[in-house]
Amino acid sequence: MNRIFKKGPDFYCDLLIIGTGGAGLRCATEVLEKRPETSVMALTKVSHPQKSHTSTAQGGLAVVDPRDPVDKNIFHMFDTWKGSDCTADQNIIKKIIESSWEQILWLENRGMHFSRDIEGKLSKRTFGGHTLNFGESLAYRAVFEADRTGKGIMDTTWGEALKRGIRFLTQSIATELLFTGNQCVGSVVFKQKEGEFIRILSKATIIATGGCGQVFKVTTNCRQNTGDGLALALQAGLPVMDPEAVQFHPTGIVGPGILASEALRSEGGVLRNKDLKPFMERYAPKMKDLAPRDLVSRAIETEIRQGRGVLNPDHGIYHVWIDLRHLSEYVLDMKLGEISHFFNKFVNINPKEELCPVCPSNHYHMGGIPTTEFGEVQNGSQDTVPGLFAIGECAAASFHGFNRLAANSILELITMGKFAGERVLEYLKEAPAETSKAEGEHTLSLFSGYLEAQGRDSLGRIREAMQTMMTGKAGVFRTEAGLLEAVEGLKELKDRAAKTALSTRGLIMNQELVRRWELDNLLTVSMVIACAALNRRESRGAHYREDFPERKNEYNYHTLTTMEESGRIEFGKRPVDMSILEAGGGHAQKFGMIKREY
Ligand SMILES: Cc1cc2nc3c(=O)[nH]c(=O)nc-3n(C[C@H](O)[C@H](O)[C@H](O)COP(=O)(O)OP(=O)(O)OC[C@H]3O[C@@H](n4cnc5c(N)ncnc54)[C@H](O)[C@@H]3O)c2cc1C
Repeated sequence: MNRIFKKGPDFYCDLLIIGTGGAGLRCATEVLEKRPETSVMALTKVSHPQKSHTSTAQGGLAVVDPRDPVDKNIFHMFDTWKGSDCTADQNIIKKIIESSWEQILWLENRGMHFSRDIEGKLSKRTFGGHTLNFGESLAYRAVFEADRTGKGIMDTTWGEALKRGIRFLTQSIATELLFTGNQCVGSVVFKQKEGEFIRILSKATIIATGGCGQVFKVTTNCRQNTGDGLALALQAGLPVMDPEAVQFHPTGIVGPGILASEALRSEGGVLRNKDLKPFMERYAPKMKDLAPRDLVSRAIETEIRQGRGVLNPDHGIYHVWIDLRHLSEYVLDMKLGEISHFFNKFVNINPKEELCPVCPSNHYHMGGIPTTEFGEVQNGSQDTVPGLFAIGECAAASFHGFNRLAANSILELITMGKFAGERVLEYLKEAPAETSKAEGEHTLSLFSGYLEAQGRDSLGRIREAMQTMMTGKAGVFRTEAGLLEAVEGLKELKDRAAKTALSTRGLIMNQELVRRWELDNLLTVSMVIACAALNRRESRGAHYREDFPERKNEYNYHTLTTMEESGRIEFGKRPVDMSILEAGGGHAQKFGMIKREY
């Protein structure tokens, strides 16, 4: 151990979960319910597990009630496949959707307060791209807890995990995965409050670190979403799958980019341009405002590009309006109370009387660490890595392909969390002892570099330059020239960062040091996003190339992106699972390379 670092004693556990969002906690609960004697440790970067991003999820989670007279699982599967632009894996679609109802019961039995209608049945919302009868009409499919669905899930899973003896380490950051041979045996962890580095040795390790929205300037994601899990995997020589598949939500509140949930349009909100005309019919004649997010985001950007946007003088940003004025007081106050309040609080607008300014904001990463249907991490040759699992937004099984449908992410957390938990229990029966000679050399060399760097640049400015570049060049619309510029720009920013001295060199609660490490992760993740977007010379889902506007069959695969130590990027391929189509039968043809019209 380098002399500038304080090293704490090693910790040992059966299961280490890096990330205490909905995915991590659902998995922890599954393990602890089935095998109470399992020792489970869970890390969060922030001061409390409940501050994970899942707590902010508003709109709902998609599920078909088996007693529903009109909706069916097969329609949900079809919508997810079509929404993904034919790049989700059909075995995953089937597995998740077929177990979705059971997970609603699981949550409700443990105290989650789903909103109910006047007859006492679960209330349901419709969301973009969710339809009945293979696209015929809107499906009311998403169950919710008012506009605090994610908080409901966090309250439930956190309470259950706590009750069953999970051990939380807060403000504790996983900085490096540890391996013995090819088996993952835990992680190096930086404990911010103590300013010390420790090793947590575990029989099984789960990466559940959430999204990477801080790559972009305008995002609905919180500050902790810096793509750490993806960077940990890349650093260990593992791939990230489909990094180019990045979702931009159509309705971020202009300025802060905070999410104005799709629930607004689901409850009847209408998008209008500068001339106050609704415009979505021109882009999606049938689904209009409730078309999938990639389509609505492109429509808004096109309105703005063609001069039908409105300039916000405070932020210098062009936007369109969402009109909520015709919605009832009950809907705005009771069903959408929190979101209505956001407009009041952040832009001083009363949605009952005024139009609300919105424009696309980065929202979700469909790409992630490639896994099997049980959350087992795969390497570049698609072999599973013993002892290592990934779930939630940082993982790609892949349920969403190149465009996630609304309300399908939380569904993924609670199902994949359960499946991974079951597989962990199997794995623990035979897992070898958790030992490792590795001392976390990579972490120590990185952090020494940060503390010893000389130079007068500003880390804040470097981060902002990266975010501006990624939004401009790798955002809703992409081109070869723009992406090449982004790749070159990112190399320069990485060099600049390496030559920037920290103003504080202590280790205890040194936020600048943590931001420096996060900046490296963000630059790494930005680079794989830009390079993979450059490599995919077609348009598919949320990845839209203006110079290659069509989907092409030659790209019907997942991109597996790895990064060598030198920074060189390599690409591999994983086939898209087409097992529903291949199984044949009644609706099989709906799961071919279908056209995406809404
Ligand atoms: C505003 C908003 C609203 C949304 N609404 C919906 C919705 O209505 N329906 C829906 O389906 N989806 C929604 N989504 C998407 C969904 O909420 C997220 O995809 C999902 O919650 C991610 O959950 P997760 O468990 O993967 O990660 P998170 O909940 O983000 O948790 C990640 C955890 O990892 C920890 N962590 C990260 N890095 C490290 C590290 N290096 N060391 C230690 N810990 C680390 C964090 O501290 C945190 O505890 C919404 C997203 C946003 C941003």
